[in-house]
Amino acid sequence: METQLEQVYDQVLRRNPGESEFHQAVREVFESLGPVLTKHPQYVDAAVLERICEPERQIIFRVPWVDDAGRVQINRGFRVEFNSALGPYKGGLRFHPSVYLGIVKFLGFEQIFKNSLSGMPIGGAKGGSDFDPRGRSDGEVMRFCQAFMTELYRHLGEYTDVPAGDIGVGGREIGYLFGQYKRITNRYESGVLTGKGVTWGGSLVRTEATGYGTVMFTERMLGTRNESFDGQRVVISGSGNVAIFAVEKAQQLGARVVAFSDSSGYVVDEAGVDLDLLKAVKLDERGRAKDYVARRPGSRLVEDGSIWDIPCDIALPCATQNELTVDDARSLLSHGVRAVAEGANMPTTPEAVRLLQESGVLFGPGKAANAGGVATSALEMQQNASRDAWDFAYTEERLAEIMSGIHDRCAGTADEYGRPGDYVLGANIAGFTKVADAMLALGVI
Ligand code: NAP
Repeated sequence: METQLEQVYDQVLRRNPGESEFHQAVREVFESLGPVLTKHPQYVDAAVLERICEPERQIIFRVPWVDDAGRVQINRGFRVEFNSALGPYKGGLRFHPSVYLGIVKFLGFEQIFKNSLSGMPIGGAKGGSDFDPRGRSDGEVMRFCQAFMTELYRHLGEYTDVPAGDIGVGGREIGYLFGQYKRITNRYESGVLTGKGVTWGGSLVRTEATGYGTVMFTERMLGTRNESFDGQRVVISGSGNVAIFAVEKAQQLGARVVAFSDSSGYVVDEAGVDLDLLKAVKLDERGRAKDYVARRPGSRLVEDGSIWDIPCDIALPCATQNELTVDDARSLLSHGVRAVAEGANMPTTPEAVRLLQESGVLFGPGKAANAGGVATSALEMQQNASRDAWDFAYTEERLAEIMSGIHDRCAGTADEYGRPGDYVLGANIAGFTKVADAMLALGVI
């Protein structure tokens, strides 16, 4: 990293102690930016780097609620409104026991560049809580969501900040959050949350969009080498919103998905994952990996070890951050992996990314590959604003166009900076310059 960038990075370390995921996300972007600063010294003069690393607003709040046994529970809520140079703050909410300020900042920081790359007029934010919805009744989840929104609502608005889902926040949680927002404000303000149900303001394809988009992006990368998903062995980690619809789209394109996972282990299904069963277990019953195996002859559950030891042509990490390490990358390479694309945010450690890229593997970074979700959220906002509802085929076509555009922006920028095929550099530079130019135009604010 160049001296100017090192200095700002040191300042980020000092100002945000103990937030290792945030540090990692900043470093990953900064490692691409050297040539940009040489070409555009105005960014340095206007302290764009210092400004872009400091969230515009950080909200931390108490979330008190009552569980089914009548006990008072206290969780911590977060919303980091990172950057609104391109539009209202936009980014999901994560409910998971590991959530703390450093995770929310890493996700919010990534979101700035992802949203910029998507070509949609949205700024970057992220939020969440250390609440764990797993094992909680619907009533408990509802009371938690109501308590969470009772504080957060005052910071939201269709022109201000528009949250969506992430880990632990799906259609059920968005429903409870929207219901409470509506009750408190007495406004049916559809544009204040995305990921809504299709009968009450949601967009078709939003549920599928992140997983579908990740596969569409990967298909475009493969196309640059005259390859495709057709006939390939694919491994996809996770079995949540992103993973399930990545499985669906990969299968539609003719691939055989042979493994998926959750936090209890990974499932190998050499015959190809039974998508209907996976959806029934994970979406309808909120079950575990073992429930799939119990009903699927020939499949097996591995409770320890790494899913990346399963040989594949294409690997799609779709669970969580830092889940694919340098050892995993070595294992994938030893089995001849040809493409890796991040459905999750920052699932591949920096050393693993470096090794995969140096070995000539096509590598799609999350801020490009998984941008289909937030892009479709922006399409949901468009439909809400015009009081319209588009059909599935049209919306999916828009998503495919957006993913193609993101791919081409990354590839074109990598070419322009003399690093053809480097999607990490392309995504970081293309995402950054658009936000930086808007920040310059808006003055010191
Ligand atoms: P989700 O529906 O809650 O599913 C998450 C999946 O990952 C579950 O199978 C979960 O297993 C597994 N998982 C989570 N934390 C884990 C951990 N620490 N160790 C092992 N497995 C873990 O969430 P999602 O929406 O699919 O999000 C997955 C990733 O995609 C996240 O990185 C998220 O930030 C990113 N992303 C999501 C969207 C979106 O539209 N939803 C958009 C862009 C990026 P358990 O159920 O056992 O915990």
